[in-house]
Amino acid sequence: MEWVQRLVFWYEKNGRNLPWRETRDPYKIWISEVILQQTRVIQGLPYYHKFLAQFPTLDSLAHAQEQEVLHIWQGLGYYSRARNLHTAAKEMWKRFGSDFPTEPATLQSISGIGPYTAAAIVSFAFEHPTPVVDGNVYRVFSRFWGIDLVIPSPKAFRFFSEQLQEPINNCNASTFNQATMELGALVCLPLKPLCANCPLQLECYAFQHQKTADFPQKKKNKSPEIRHFHYLHFELPGEKIALYKRTEGIWKGLHEFPCIEFTEELSDSDIHTHLKNRFLTLKSLPKKTFTTKHQLTHRTLFATFWKIKSTKIPKLEKKATFELDFQDIHKYPIHRLMQKYLDYLIESAYDK
Ligand code: SF4
Repeated sequence: MEWVQRLVFWYEKNGRNLPWRETRDPYKIWISEVILQQTRVIQGLPYYHKFLAQFPTLDSLAHAQEQEVLHIWQGLGYYSRARNLHTAAKEMWKRFGSDFPTEPATLQSISGIGPYTAAAIVSFAFEHPTPVVDGNVYRVFSRFWGIDLVIPSPKAFRFFSEQLQEPINNCNASTFNQATMELGALVCLPLKPLCANCPLQLECYAFQHQKTADFPQKKKNKSPEIRHFHYLHFELPGEKIALYKRTEGIWKGLHEFPCIEFTEELSDSDIHTHLKNRFLTLKSLPKKTFTTKHQLTHRTLFATFWKIKSTKIPKLEKKATFELDFQDIHKYPIHRLMQKYLDYLIESAYDK
């Protein structure tokens, strides 16, 4: 297969020097793969270094507290990745100790490790000939072979894994997988593929038929759900605030101000009325301080932060609400929306 040789040659000349490509340590490779899911390399790199500085081994991660893991992850988003990684590390340590599994099936038996991550670990660390099929690989080979299977899907995953088995059997597994992923990341781009620089151009179905925009076929995205959050920044005596630890949802385990959610946009006077009725002891009107829009993959969040002067935390339904010194907030993992608000407070303090 000449295209395989050209692809590998191209990668050896053009592949980026990234720290996880310079190690055979399966733990470090695993961490990099989890960080890079839904995160660009440039954004993920500092987190990779920070994470490994704090948790250099499987042992250290398995014995960490969830709060420590979430703290290091803060700002990277998709916090379920951090929680699942931590849970999987604990399970792996309990079952295998320091003997990191070398077979894809064994890795996949650990909760939270799927076929993609298992393939990446075993091929990069142990040269196991298992093709990695991620978004980049789907795109390259949908175009290369002119395959119109909808991606991502179990059917497409099986198809591309099978098709890539023969090429990977005939070369160095880690180099082949890195090369296919790198070609998708640098050349076979989603919107404007750089076909003039591509080592697969000669045999590429989409290029030869001028159909690069037709591949890959993707599932139609549903329009994002819209939610309206109102965060309550209680200003309590002695520079204290109220913080709540989320017990469910995508931000489970992270901290935020007590929050009231509405399904529709409400006027300020509606909110005032709601808060006055809800917290009968309020002495003054809540003050609207900051508003922001926050886009998640399937949700658009409109958040408003209200400052409320109060002598104590009003009786809230949520038991996980507690009082603390405002200056200690950095000790708790918080989500991106809260971070935006704290950044705003710092900026507005400088502007005064
Ligand atoms: Fe992608 Fe173009 Fe290369 Fe085909 S020739 S694999 S469309 S970059």
